[in-house]
Amino acid sequence: MHPTVHDIKEALKSNAITHVLLDMDGTLLDKYFDDYFWEHLVPEKYADKHKITFGKAKEELLRKYKSHEETLNWTDIDFWSRELGLEIMALKEQIRHLIEIHPHVEEFLGLMRSRRKKVYIATNAHDRVLAMKMKKTELGKYLTGTITSAEMGYPKEHQEFWHRLEKKLGFSRDSALFVDDTLAVLRSARKYGIKYLVYKAKGNSKVPPGKSDEFATVMDFNELM
Ligand SMILES: [Mg+2]
Repeated sequence: MHPTVHDIKEALKSNAITHVLLDMDGTLLDKYFDDYFWEHLVPEKYADKHKITFGKAKEELLRKYKSHEETLNWTDIDFWSRELGLEIMALKEQIRHLIEIHPHVEEFLGLMRSRRKKVYIATNAHDRVLAMKMKKTELGKYLTGTITSAEMGYPKEHQEFWHRLEKKLGFSRDSALFVDDTLAVLRSARKYGIKYLVYKAKGNSKVPPGKSDEFATVMDFNELM
């Protein structure tokens, strides 16, 4: 039986959890930004460029996205700029106003800092996207550090990501918490042996939350305080 939300809340009050590892997009930040970007803005620009309809562009793009899922290409904005012939970073900057922190995230991070936890973002996002989001949200002030999958050489879906992360941060699997809004990533962390896992079910504020029987599940970080 996996630790429940109650177990995790209690473990966070003591030294049972020393390291708090947090996904960024969908977990700390509203995934609406990313979904809007890949499912609306990019298809629109791609359609203009290739003189095809939005529907056709979206269909083509979804196929391309799918073929690079769970790889480092997926997170590499230079790869997508080349692949699609679009300035991905410049396009992201155009909609930076859509970057939003989920409710109660700052309170949670502040509380973790006051309890002297090591607090890290562990993200598949590209360095420059991470930097843009940190600049916009100023979450960096609560963090011990940030880790990207490009830095580790593997996305979070791979076991090697976790081996390298543990080596770099020096945590124990039994005293680490990891929160993510993607089940495939949580399963990878579980396989590696991270003891405390939380599924953040509400990733995009504008779509219905996901569901899971496999992991302790929260909609909002206030449930962990
Ligand atoms: Mg995520």
